[in-house]
Amino acid sequence: MTAEVIDGKAAAARLRERVGALALDFARQAERKPGLAVVLIGEDAASQVYVGAKGKATVAANMNSFEHHLPADTPQDALLTLVEQLNADKAVDGILVQLPLPPQLDAQAVIAAISPDKDVDGFHVSNAGRLAVGQDGFVPCTPLGCMMLLEERHGSDLSGMEAVVIGRSNIVGKPMAQLLLQANATVTIAHSRTRNLAEVVRRADVVVAAVGLAEMVRGDWLKPGATIIDVGINRLPPEPGAGKGRLVGDVAFAEAREVAGAITPVPGGVGPMTIAVLLRNTLVAAYQNSGLAKPDI
Ligand code: NAD
Repeated sequence: MTAEVIDGKAAAARLRERVGALALDFARQAERKPGLAVVLIGEDAASQVYVGAKGKATVAANMNSFEHHLPADTPQDALLTLVEQLNADKAVDGILVQLPLPPQLDAQAVIAAISPDKDVDGFHVSNAGRLAVGQDGFVPCTPLGCMMLLEERHGSDLSGMEAVVIGRSNIVGKPMAQLLLQANATVTIAHSRTRNLAEVVRRADVVVAAVGLAEMVRGDWLKPGATIIDVGINRLPPEPGAGKGRLVGDVAFAEAREVAGAITPVPGGVGPMTIAVLLRNTLVAAYQNSGLAKPDI
């Protein structure tokens, strides 16, 4: 069997287009554009690339992008003051503080300071709690993007299906498992202390790999026909003479493709969905913060 390759780039482009059209509708009703504030602290190269990409995508979706770039030695109280100003700013619907933060800053305290109504990353404990008890709230962008890709293939009801999530982080693994549970899948969360991981993965109809270890999940770990969502982004060491190493996921793609029913590639799978969902969450925040009925998106 050769698996269908799930085109995350195309799915993300469709979502961004819907969000862009609805942002125009919002602007007509509210007489302002939705606004996303992104806070970057320090000079981390990867973070600068992400923040730049988010800013461009925000403007392309007919929203305002407010970028705040602070020096690497910014003290905690200065960052908290900025977050409070953004919480109070009516032009700002969503606030995202780019992680990781420099060591003198406490990420948990910063996330806790963001108004849950503007927490478009869905990292605030109030939104994490809402997800856990099945209430409406902001859901972290990467797992929600994974669910949207799964939904295109399997619909929104995964009753009777076994799902295995590998990884238990607060930003990917745990919320992913909650979403799969809400969709009625039978969910297992595997992690670094799981024994016989290959055997656990082999019973899954849906595998979500969010570990950060290049090509860890092998083709012979997979149930034939399974759907594989590969969240991992890992850079291999460069080939001799080449500048940068290749990007790969947590799943050995070439092997997995021979066994799985469908699989997301890296790059071009989950990654593009993450930014598209961030825009979607910002749009939803704009409607909610303005007291307007939010669209079904
Ligand atoms: P993390 O380091 O916070 O969590 C990794 C998880 O993997 C942990 O829960 C750990 O228990 C588990 N793990 C570690 N070693 C393991 C092993 N040998 N076997 C089984 N489980 C093991 O990472 P994260 O933030 O959840 O991100 C995971 C991966 O997803 C990274 O590669 C990251 O770059 C990528 N990521 C991609 C996107 C995207 O937009 N595509 C977004 C977020 C994260």
